[in-house]
Amino acid sequence: MLRITDVHAHYDEKAFDKDREDVLTSLHENGVEFIINSGSDVPSSERSVSLAGKHDFIYASVGVFPLSAYDVPDRWIESIRELAGDSKVIAIGEIGLDYHEPDADREKQKEVFRAQLDLASELDMPVVIHDREADEDMLQELSKRPVRGMIHRFFSKAKYGKAFTDNGIYLGIGPAITYPDAGELIETVRAMDPSMMLLETDAPFLPASSRAGMRADSSDIRDVISVIASIKGMSEEEVAETAYRNAMMLFGIKHQEE
Ligand SMILES: [Zn+2]
Repeated sequence: MLRITDVHAHYDEKAFDKDREDVLTSLHENGVEFIINSGSDVPSSERSVSLAGKHDFIYASVGVFPLSAYDVPDRWIESIRELAGDSKVIAIGEIGLDYHEPDADREKQKEVFRAQLDLASELDMPVVIHDREADEDMLQELSKRPVRGMIHRFFSKAKYGKAFTDNGIYLGIGPAITYPDAGELIETVRAMDPSMMLLETDAPFLPASSRAGMRADSSDIRDVISVIASIKGMSEEEVAETAYRNAMMLFGIKHQEE
């Protein structure tokens, strides 16, 4: 059985309210070794911590992402710091910059992002980064300080993929690679050292193309592995194992049988 790892998903989302426990149990029985459930604001970070508390194979990342940066509650950073102290929290995230909307308040986003990069370095934790159409500023922010982490759901030009991995930042490769518009992503994966590759779904948001329109879950990683294996000339087992080891390394997750 392929050992599946999903380093970025949102199983606390409403889309899973009706069958969350059944879905998670069945995924784990079918080879999903671990999942990192990501917060994107204070309430979803709390939900991530509580979900991780219920399942051995689920870990949490906690943070405020750029689209939630405009209306953060008072003392939000203290809330994130407190949540980060939970033993199942293994990263600060998702955090970052999102310039997709033309009226995005870039300065406010940077302020919230920087505060959490500082928190991650204070706590010596890796970060899970959301970067949408903000690569140049992101590279600049990351160059100002030592950062351990990953760009989640990487989907940008191959030159940026190279720039991030050259700076020691891992790339989260997800179901987007199964779609016809994945040319730059395929180029990135072809060029990258497998030691910088992580697998993720961002579930429930984007399923693999074979399940387009449906709710994504961590089983979509199988299609991602299959595409990466053919790009890299690796076996599916090698891809899965490499991503597993990389995730253990970056997030400091201990093997459960140990
Ligand atoms: Zn996400």
